[in-house]
Amino acid sequence: MSEGQQSRKFSAPQPNSETQHFWDAAAEGKLLIKSCNSCGEVHFYPRAHCPFCFSDNTSWQQASGDATIYTYSVMRRGAPVPYAIAYVTLAEGPTMMTNIVDCDLDAIRIGQRVKLVFKPSEGGAPVPCFAPA
Ligand SMILES: [Zn+2]
Repeated sequence: MSEGQQSRKFSAPQPNSETQHFWDAAAEGKLLIKSCNSCGEVHFYPRAHCPFCFSDNTSWQQASGDATIYTYSVMRRGAPVPYAIAYVTLAEGPTMMTNIVDCDLDAIRIGQRVKLVFKPSEGGAPVPCFAPA
């Protein structure tokens, strides 16, 4: 069994008024991002105001779950189980910080195609992670 097959324990997300809907959707297995009705840009993480033009006229949109690894870092020291933190670029454009899971940590590469997978947290909404596509 390779180290990548062990799973990291995720602490429960702490939703706030801007992200409650995001975590409610996560519980249904959906990854939501926001698109701006004023300037058309898509952003993540979800905010009440568009980070590009500060409009509050934004809409929720479900992401396809397709993404590419932009950069990553494997955490080994001080972690009960080694894990990989990464920034992935979603097919829709925004970049999000996440964990790369269900893979050999030594095989992760920048530019690798990954796919959304939700992992349970301890007592909260599932956490969006990505695994090799
Ligand atoms: Zn905007």
